[in-house]
Amino acid sequence: MGKEKILVVEDEDAIQELIRYNLQKEGFDRVRCCDSGEEALTAVAEFAPDLILLDLMLPGMDGLAVCRHLKSDHRTALIPIIMLTAKSEESDVVVGLEMGADDYIAKPFSTKVLVARIHSVLRRVSGSTQPEDAAGNAAAALKRGALMMNRGTREALLDGVPLNLTFSEFEILYLLARRPGWVFTRSQIVNEVKGEDYPVTERAIDVQMVSLRRKLGRHGGMIETVRGVGYRFASDYRQEE
Ligand code: CA
Repeated sequence: MGKEKILVVEDEDAIQELIRYNLQKEGFDRVRCCDSGEEALTAVAEFAPDLILLDLMLPGMDGLAVCRHLKSDHRTALIPIIMLTAKSEESDVVVGLEMGADDYIAKPFSTKVLVARIHSVLRRVSGSTQPEDAAGNAAAALKRGALMMNRGTREALLDGVPLNLTFSEFEILYLLARRPGWVFTRSQIVNEVKGEDYPVTERAIDVQMVSLRRKLGRHGGMIETVRGVGYRFASDYRQEE
């Protein structure tokens, strides 16, 4: 860790300096800062960062516009983006995640949390956590702590006991569990999960989450609600893979 190049896009000098200082303390030697969206696009082309910390509220071209621009260009679409947001920008967070941003951190944040999120996103993009076999079939089992899922056989076991999930519940849990810590918005879940036994709407997702958590019992905390945004599989469960 630490070899990665990180681009910090933040117009407030104090925050920019705080982030730079803490990243360098953490061993990230290659940090570049810029304070506008326009500058960010130039910096991405010149510096080729491995990760971008992107403030949403920027003078001129704002963070969402930068995100949209980068995610729509195949040369930059895969660079992970962590959005830095103010509490009042929750609806922007949803838009950003749907555009393909990887994560977000609400200000004010602790630098400890920031560094942990950076490591988590870098781990996610470098290590394949996909359970597919070499042929690309989702045949291999996915293990997350007490949970074991096999999409090929549509088996879901918790502590070795079958979970009895509906088709949609299986799909939702599988979607979230494949990427621990990754926040999915309701509409992303709707788009990924094609319900057969249930008309899938954003409201239906909430209903299915209630049912899923009930079936998970004492492990219901595996699914975390991210207020105003959506759902994610708790990242702690990844440690027990
Ligand atoms: Ca700002």
